[in-house]
Order: sequence, then C-alpha cells, then structure tokens
Amino acid sequence: MIARAPIDRTHDPALRSWVESANDGGTDFPIQNLPFATFRHDYEERPRIGIAIGDQLLDCLEAARCGRFDPLDPAIRDALQGWSLNGLMALGRRDARAVRHLVSRMLEAGSPEANAAYALRDRILVPLNRVSLLVPAEVGDYTDFYASIHHARRVGALFRPDNPLLPNYTWVPIGYHGRASSLVPSGSQVRRPIGQTRKGADGPPSVAPSASMDYEVELALWACGENAIGEPIPISRAGDHLFGVSLLNDWSARDVQAWEYQPLGPFLSKNFATTVGAWVVTADALEPFRSPLAARGPDEPAPLQYLDDPEDRARGALGVTVEVAIATAKMREAGLPPLRLSTAQASDLYWTPAQMIAHHTSNGCNLRPGDMLGTGTISGADDSARGCLLEITRRGAEPVQLPTGETRAFLADGDEVIIRGWCEREGAARIGFGECRGTIVPAK
Ligand code: CA
Repeated sequence: MIARAPIDRTHDPALRSWVESANDGGTDFPIQNLPFATFRHDYEERPRIGIAIGDQLLDCLEAARCGRFDPLDPAIRDALQGWSLNGLMALGRRDARAVRHLVSRMLEAGSPEANAAYALRDRILVPLNRVSLLVPAEVGDYTDFYASIHHARRVGALFRPDNPLLPNYTWVPIGYHGRASSLVPSGSQVRRPIGQTRKGADGPPSVAPSASMDYEVELALWACGENAIGEPIPISRAGDHLFGVSLLNDWSARDVQAWEYQPLGPFLSKNFATTVGAWVVTADALEPFRSPLAARGPDEPAPLQYLDDPEDRARGALGVTVEVAIATAKMREAGLPPLRLSTAQASDLYWTPAQMIAHHTSNGCNLRPGDMLGTGTISGADDSARGCLLEITRRGAEPVQLPTGETRAFLADGDEVIIRGWCEREGAARIGFGECRGTIVPAK
C-alpha cells in the first residue's frame, strides 16, 4: 500500500487563519495549503525558506530564530534554516508533515500557538510582493516524462501521421534526462535559442534563431528521501518519495526538435531554459485531491506488475487543473488581460507520480532529494485541453487569433506565457500553485 497521509485537521475547510488574506476564498494560499518556497529578501543575498499564507510569506529563518520551531526535532529545525528545500527533502515526507502540523497551528486563528506568532508577525511574516522567489531546490537531476497520452497522440500524428502512438507508449512511462543547469525561476526572461534546423525534407540544414518557440504546461514532481543505487523503489513505497508538486514550463524549440530528436530524443530544443514555479505544494496538502487513475482503453494493456498497485489505481492521480494564458507585448500595452489558451486536468495523465517514480528507479537508478521529475505536457482529449502551441496550432497550420488582431503559430519575442494551477473539490478548501511566468526575449 502507498504510505498515504491521513486527511487530518490541517485539511479542515473550516480552518481559518489570523492572516486575514488567507481566508478570502480566492487565494491560492489558504491555511489548508502551506506550500514551501525558497526566497530572497531585497537586503541580503542569502536565500531562505518560506511558507505561503494568503498574501504573506512565513520567513522560516526568522521564525526559527524566534523559537517558533522549537517543538520540532533539531534536524528539522536546521533544515528549515537552510538555503534551499534540499535539507527538508532529504529528511522526507514525514518530517515535512511535522512542519505542516506545527505551522498550521501557529497560523490558525485562536489556536494556543497563535498568540506568540501573532505578536511576532512583523518579524516572521513578509508580504509576498516584497521578496524574490527562486527555484525551490538545488536540482541535481531533472527528468522529463511524457505522461499524457493525449499529448503523445496529437504530437505523434503531426510528426508520424502513419504511426502516431508508438507501441511502447502504453507499456513504458517514456521520459528523457533533462538539464538541471538551465532551470530558471518564474518571472525570468527566456532568450530565444539559436539552433540547427532543416526547413524542407530535402534542403540543407541551417543555423538561425528558432522560428517555432513553444511552451509546455507541466507539473514538477519533487523527490524526497533517497534510494541507494541498485535499490528500486517499489510502487507501494513511491508515495514516501514524493515531497510535493510545482508548476513547470518546458520551453521547446519545435524546429530544432523536429530535426534533432531521432534517434535519441530532445537535446538542444529543450535544454536552453525550463521555468519552475516557486511554490512546492506538499504531497500532504494534495491528499484531499488525489483521484483514480484514468481508465485505460479497451485495446490498452494493464500495467505490468511493478507499475501496478491497488491504492495507486484508486487514488494515485493528481486532481490538479492547469491553465495556460498568453499576453503579447501589444496586449500588455493595450491593457488587455492575458488570453487563456488551454485548461487541462493532471488526472488525465496516463501514468501517476508513483508509477513514474517506480519506473525511474526500477533499474536501480537512484533518486536524490531535490531531483525534479516533469510530468510531460498535460493535455486532455478535448481541443480546449491542448497543453502546447504545437498541438493548438497543429504545428503552425492553424494560428491562434489574439484580441489585438495578432496571430500566433508559435511564440513571438515579447510574449509572456502564464501558467496557473489549482485543486478544487466539494468538501475541501481550494488550494493553488501560484503562477509560473516567463517572457520570450530576442535571440542574441
Ligand atoms: Ca516536456
């Protein structure tokens, strides 16, 4: 069985915080969420760990200095004063849960722990708009999966019309090893890459700025704990190795990708930049929003035993809605709001986080704390749920119409892509992932 966390009083939708902005129903960060981030004050270089509550951030270093984490084990207290989330990720999910329980009581209106925290509010809370948010962990390795069968089918049909879904897809969680050095925080500018492409099927290749820049809406799964090299993580234990989830934009240069991807997969079409959302919504916060694994088609095989677990089948999928919007430079100048391009459900993914973790380690590959696994583009069956421009415009053939009269087959310089994510369910407080933003700037 997956080591599941109970739904407990930290999830109670009736819980209210003394931080008023956490109670308005519209915030991504009510007291039931408590996502982690790594941030920097404008007055110092040293990164700190923070926990979001409404429009504020609990500064964990200050809270520790004020003794607010004294009830915790010293190792957890030390990890909360670290420069990134890696220390807490090394300790694992159970210790992150201890932090969640203490912080929930600290921020809860009327709780015994609230008075002391409230008295210290000017010291331990900082407005979110006064800090810089960073990539949440130092990522040793970044793997990107391809877990949406809807994305795989549509993209496959564009590149291989006679053979859209390769025969391994329904058996193997497909992935490739990405590049950790070019992970950038939300809000960063992304420079259009220069690359080798070939225009026609017979013409010579040339080197130029990519003419088909795209985004991919994904979720990032953060690994915690560690498996020794040679020791697979069985699917029944995979839940212990999921620390939390963030938004992710896997920028892609489609013209470079089309020319370079065979036979070893994406390389320079992907590794120039990947934007990581700041907020790590913990696996515990997501518990009320787990959902059944999407049903397989009648012609599709049951997963092999090492990828199959009854608990994972019943509630291993993530009930997260992801939405992408675009704001071109002209739209921003005209004061127009971003235009929504798609809305999709992570619960439609073909593989669950536990299946991805079990598969990744099934050969003895070791995951380390802070490793990041991308889910792959999240698309759904409906045309409104196409998670990248490659799918939406059918490789540029059907450009998107924008309110300024502009059209987009792919991204232009100055375009900003904004990803949002949230979880909503009857009987639970709505929680969100904040935003993952990035703007394309011209090639050098
Ligand atoms: Ca991807």
